[in-house]
Amino acid sequence: MNHEKYLKQTIQLAVENARNDGGPFGALVVDKQGIVVGTGQNKVTSSNDPTAHAEIQAIREACNKLETFQLSDCILYTSCEPCPMCLGAIYWARVEKVYYAADQKLAAAGGFDDQFIYEEINKTYEQRKIPFYTIDLSEKNAPFEEWLKQDNKVEY
Ligand SMILES: [Zn+2]
Repeated sequence: MNHEKYLKQTIQLAVENARNDGGPFGALVVDKQGIVVGTGQNKVTSSNDPTAHAEIQAIREACNKLETFQLSDCILYTSCEPCPMCLGAIYWARVEKVYYAADQKLAAAGGFDDQFIYEEINKTYEQRKIPFYTIDLSEKNAPFEEWLKQDNKVEY
């Protein structure tokens, strides 16, 4: 597997996207045979979707194409070290491994600093910029009770 080749392609996608009014990020999902099964470019502003990061786009396309919700045999290549949201998506998609080009510091220098989100994770709910509230409803466990009752559930 030529990791450098795929990583360079993500940079091309990112440069091309930046040139066309998109965010400067690109990503690819590549399967075991070396076939590109998912391509992603940052479409946050063009699609009014704050979750449309390149990695998420590539994961969605790959899952759609392979008709699966797990990319266990795939590698994710991305032009930049994934943000905390994409990090979560990468774990949920269970890709085999990740290769990235630019790191968090370069992203921050380019105007994309996600350090504050990492810092938020370690704060108590009271200290966070976006407050979280829980209300103690008696039926709060109903979704899990229903889930556990199902005989033909697809576990993930
Ligand atoms: Zn991201």
